[in-house]
Amino acid sequence: MKQELKYPFSLDNQSRPAYLRVAAPPALVAGFTLRPGGVSRGPFATANMGYGVGDDERAVTENRLRLLQGVGGGRFSALLTCRQVHGNCCHVVGRRDIDDPGATALLEADALLTAEPGVLLGILTADCLPLIMVDKKARALAVIHAGWRGLEQGVAAAALTEMKRSFASPVEDILVYAGPAIGGCCFAVGAEVIERFQKLPELKGVAGWYCKDDSGFRLDLPAVQKYQLQAAGLDLENFFAVDICTYCHDFCFSYRRDHAITGRQLAFAGLTA
Ligand SMILES: [Zn+2]
Repeated sequence: MKQELKYPFSLDNQSRPAYLRVAAPPALVAGFTLRPGGVSRGPFATANMGYGVGDDERAVTENRLRLLQGVGGGRFSALLTCRQVHGNCCHVVGRRDIDDPGATALLEADALLTAEPGVLLGILTADCLPLIMVDKKARALAVIHAGWRGLEQGVAAAALTEMKRSFASPVEDILVYAGPAIGGCCFAVGAEVIERFQKLPELKGVAGWYCKDDSGFRLDLPAVQKYQLQAAGLDLENFFAVDICTYCHDFCFSYRRDHAITGRQLAFAGLTA
């Protein structure tokens, strides 16, 4: 009988920074960082992984270096992030990007993909939904930034298409891990946001992706994502959500809870060889 791992996340709080480890296929390191174990202070305490949010940039560099050394054991030469713009643009990372992480950091994209070993790709969030997508056979991966605007534009489905186009990864071989994000418990949105999502064909006839009570509407990002990926052909057996709300838990950065002055956690993934 096939042994399926239903909750492939485990806490590694010995590492600096602490992170939720993803039990991914061999030769792949992946996880979602949390707040403890960094050197940032004040509202960015302690493991802020994002530049340009008001934190001391030297602290961010130190936090990133710690992660690079801690999770890779020296096997990763660089951590690449990009300029996330709440769109659905996917960028395939090649040797040129790896050799020039500074230029890659300025690229506008909301999904980074690669089949190159020895580099960590990262997506920064503080309430938006971070995704890690891996091909369990062909050794390719993607990290994806899916806030509500990215979801509306189908960023994860775009990444699935790009995995097929660039790496010949069929959807049957794809595993998707959804990290900490603001949950359906806390993500208050206006009626107009719900109306926009109701127009999406992949949400027609499915329930449970939003709720309404006396306080208004709340959107469930992981639920929306699950239905969108299912519509794009993903078997839901291959979709794993960590189910941790960033707003509810102070071991996560939360843009809304912290009134926009906060750090960023990092979803990261890399091929080791
Ligand atoms: Zn919550």
